[in-house]
Amino acid sequence: GNISVAQLADKFGVKVMHLQRKMVELGMGEDVRGAAFLLNVDDATSLALEYNLNPIIDSDRGYNIYPEPEDDPSKSPLRPPVVTIMGHVDHGKTTLLDALRHTSVAAGEAGGITQHIGAFSVPLSSLQKDADSDSTITFLDTPGHAAFTGMRARGASVTDLVVLVVAADDGVMPQTKEVINLVQKEGDNVGLVVAINKCDKPQIDVAKVKAGLGAEGIILEEDGGDVPSVRVSGLARLGLDDLVETLATLAEVRDLRAREDGKAEGWVLESNVDKGLGTVATVLVTRGTLRDGAPIVAGNTWARVRTMTDSAGNPVGEAGPGTPVSVTGWRDVPIAGDQLLEAPSEAKAKSCIDNRLRDQQRKQLAEDAEVINIRRQEDRLRLEAERVEVKAAKEAGVSVQQALHNARRAAAEAADSGRKELRLIIKADVSGTVEAVVGSLSAIGNKEAGVKIVHTGVGNVTESDVMLGDAADGTVIGFNVVCPRAIQSAASDAGVPVITDGVIYRLIDNVRARVAALLPPRI
Ligand code: GDP
Repeated sequence: GNISVAQLADKFGVKVMHLQRKMVELGMGEDVRGAAFLLNVDDATSLALEYNLNPIIDSDRGYNIYPEPEDDPSKSPLRPPVVTIMGHVDHGKTTLLDALRHTSVAAGEAGGITQHIGAFSVPLSSLQKDADSDSTITFLDTPGHAAFTGMRARGASVTDLVVLVVAADDGVMPQTKEVINLVQKEGDNVGLVVAINKCDKPQIDVAKVKAGLGAEGIILEEDGGDVPSVRVSGLARLGLDDLVETLATLAEVRDLRAREDGKAEGWVLESNVDKGLGTVATVLVTRGTLRDGAPIVAGNTWARVRTMTDSAGNPVGEAGPGTPVSVTGWRDVPIAGDQLLEAPSEAKAKSCIDNRLRDQQRKQLAEDAEVINIRRQEDRLRLEAERVEVKAAKEAGVSVQQALHNARRAAAEAADSGRKELRLIIKADVSGTVEAVVGSLSAIGNKEAGVKIVHTGVGNVTESDVMLGDAADGTVIGFNVVCPRAIQSAASDAGVPVITDGVIYRLIDNVRARVAALLPPRI
C-alpha cells in the first residue's frame, strides 16, 4: 500500500524536513512533498535507494529453508560414489552407459525394463561375485551434463568420480582435453579414471591414446603415473567389471560418507511433465533419507512426495545418500540443478516457496526502481539547467518572457518602419563595458540602416541570449566574454549569428560591415 512522506521519514529514521529536502533534490514536485502526502511506490522506492536502503526487502524477510550445517562426516556411514561419464563425441559414452544400465536392470527385479531417469545405480554384486551385496555405484546420465554444470555453478560438488572415455581408434580429441581441464580444476574434489574404449576393434592404437593423454599431463598408473585406467568395449560389453571394480576401489580410498538420518538434501537432475503422473523430477539424495510423504522444496516449487521410483522402475519408500529416485507430487516443475531440501512441514514448504517467489518479485522491483532513479537524476539535471537559465535572466534585470516580448516587438517595429536594422543582443564582462559597447555600436548607421539594441546583459553568452536573437531576428555580441560550445551550436542551429571579440575597433568594423550589407548594393 501507499505510505505518507512522514511515515517514510520515520521508517528511514530521518526528520521529515530532511526527507523533503531529498525530494527537492530528486526533482519531486511541491505537490507531493507535504508530510501527509501518500507517495506512490516509484517515489517511495527511489527515496529508499537515496538512503541506501531497500525497505521493501528489509521489511520482512519471510521464511526460508537452508541446508543443515555439515556434520562430522567420519561418523557417518559410507555412501555410494557418484560417477559421471564424459569424453569426446562418438567415443562411446552413451553406449557405455547403456551397457552399464542394462547390467543394473538385469540384476534388478523390473524384468529388464530400462527406464531413463537421468541417473542409475549399479549393484556391485551384478558384476563382482564377491562384492558386498548392498554396495552400489551411482552413474549420472544427464544429457549434455546440464545438471553437472548447473550444480557446479552453485558450488556443489555432486560428482565424486569422472570416467574419461577415449576411443582407442581415435585418441585424444578437443572434448577429451576439455574434460581433462575440468577435472584438473576440481583438484582433489574429483577422482579420474580413463576408460580406453572400443577395444573390441582390430585397428586400435593405445600408444597414441597414451601419448595424447601424456601431452595433457595425464600419466596412467600402468606407466608409473597416478591415473587408473581400464580397457573396455561398451558395444561388446567387455571390461565393464574391471571398470566397476576400479571405481569401487577409488571410492573406498576416498572414504565417501554421508549421514542417513535427519532431513533429506539433494539435487534435481532432471524434470519432465508426464501425462499421467504430472511433474516428475529425478533427484539425487546427497544427505539424509527422503521418504514417501515428505514435504520438500526445490528452486521455486515444492512437493509432498507422492511416489518415488528407483532407476530400475521399482517403487521405493525411501532413498538414502547417493540414491537417484524419480519423485512425483510437485506443484510446479523444478529445474535441473535446483537444490532439494526437506521442509519441516507442508505449510513451511509452501511459505518458503511463497517467500522465494516474493523475493524474486522484489528483486525485479528493485531493479525497476533503479531505472526510475536514473530517470529522476536526469530530471534533476534538466531542472538544474532551467534554474541556471532563470537565474541568468534575473541577473540581467528582466524576466526571460519580458526580454522575449521586447525582442519580438523590436523585430515587428523594424518591419513597419522600413528602416533596415541590425538588431543586437549585447553581452559583456562587466556593466561598465556593456555601456561602452552599447555607446560605440548604437551610433553606427544612417536613416536608411542602423543598429538597434534589443537586450544587454553581463556574463557569457547563454541559451536565452540565443533565444532572444532568434525572436528578434538579431545578432548576439559577446565582448570580453565567451560563448560556450553548446550555446554556439544551438545558435547555429537557430541561425543566430554570434560575434565574440575583445577588441572594440575590430568589433565596430565588423558591425559596420553588417549594417552596410543590409542596404541594397549601390551601382
Ligand atoms: P557418444 O557420442 O560418446 O555417446 O558415442 P556413442 O555411444 O553414441 O557411440 C558412437 C558410435 O561408436 C556408435 O556408432 C557406437 O555404436 C560406436 N561405439 C560405441 N562404443 C563402441 C565400442 O566399444 N566398440 C565399437 N566398435 N563401437 C562402439
